[in-house]
Amino acid sequence: MNCPCGTQKTYSECCEPAHKNISSVTTAEQLMRSRYTAFVMANGDYLMESHHSSTRPTSEKDAIVSWAKSVSWIRLEALETTKGGPSDTEGTVSFNALFLENGEVDVIREKSAFVKENGHWTYVGYAT
Ligand SMILES: [Zn+2]
Repeated sequence: MNCPCGTQKTYSECCEPAHKNISSVTTAEQLMRSRYTAFVMANGDYLMESHHSSTRPTSEKDAIVSWAKSVSWIRLEALETTKGGPSDTEGTVSFNALFLENGEVDVIREKSAFVKENGHWTYVGYAT
């Protein structure tokens, strides 16, 4: 199966290594992709693990998982990236995540901020 994040690689070659070991993720874009795939798969544990501890929505985990399961994910469009490379400690990634909710296409358009915490990339929130 092709990875849900749209790289044309299989899940086992793309986001699965991230889901098994977040420290294997080398770039902010890869982390963003692995989080999209975790939404598609309703992998709440990874969504929490990949969140920076300062903004991690632990109390909303169940609601996030329920919502992720309730929609049909269409595709991810990765747009601009700043920094976020293997030797960086911060970066931003802009993306569109398209999904079908209650029969209508909706889209999350976001410029996200990522920083490294405990030696691996994490999602902080909206970039300013
Ligand atoms: Zn992927």
